[in-house]
Amino acid sequence: MSPAPDPSALLSLEGRVALVTGASGGIGSAVAESLRAAGAEVACVDLERAGASAEAESLACDVSDPAAVERMFERFGKRFDRLDVLVHCAGITRDAVLWKMDHDAWTGVLRTNLDSAYLLLRHAVPLMRAAGGGSVVLISSINAERGKLGQANYAASKAGLIGLGRTAARETGRFGIRVNVVSPGMIDTAMTASLPDEIKARARQESALGKIGRVEDVAQAGLFLASPMSDHVTGQVLRVDGGQLMA
Ligand code: NAD
Repeated sequence: MSPAPDPSALLSLEGRVALVTGASGGIGSAVAESLRAAGAEVACVDLERAGASAEAESLACDVSDPAAVERMFERFGKRFDRLDVLVHCAGITRDAVLWKMDHDAWTGVLRTNLDSAYLLLRHAVPLMRAAGGGSVVLISSINAERGKLGQANYAASKAGLIGLGRTAARETGRFGIRVNVVSPGMIDTAMTASLPDEIKARARQESALGKIGRVEDVAQAGLFLASPMSDHVTGQVLRVDGGQLMA
């Protein structure tokens, strides 16, 4: 048996370029920071200029808008000559029970959470092919798989990411591109800060570990999937939920 490789080398992203969407948010900024700490140059994308860290390149873009995504990749191409990692964290909720959910709330969430991934992949795949391969991580949610009261739009968009991600994994694998999905359970961020205490208590109860996750928990899973440590992992859904959903 050959000696085990150095784990830190397998997690290194030295010389790699990563693009992170939703990079001003709780999970996105932690992801950007962990990729940067692993040695990657990071382009941070958010609605307004993202300020994840002084060293990161910031690109303002509404990722639900096809023309804006195209312009963003033009700006990206002027600054970077390759793309190795895409982590799509941008996402919104607009909760209401189905029969009270207006059409804007439906399309707004689908466009921001799901259409965006399609738009990003269309630009990212050719760049990753040119770089000889790459890794894409789409941030879904456990609510994609289990459904959630008041979140028909959100659950549908996040379930769509799983189908899109697995199809992209099949279509791009032969170019050395891996595509995986991370499904967080409840994580302590701005998105969940305003939820009633009883919902947070229920999430804690549901979790086998008895706690709500931290943004770092998702960032570490993102780094694993972005790095050579997960070289033979593609088309998978990795739940980072403390065992909140097990099936
Ligand atoms: P957050 O609100 O802190 O971050 C989301 C970021 O996305 C924000 O910075 C926002 O400006 C950006 N964004 C929204 N619309 C955009 C658009 N059209 N274009 C560009 N950027 C846009 O939320 P978070 O908790 O960090 O969530 C990050 C991702 O994780 C989301 O996709 C969310 O659905 C998912 N998620 C979160 C949890 C949780 O409990 N926090 C659980 C499961 C999944």
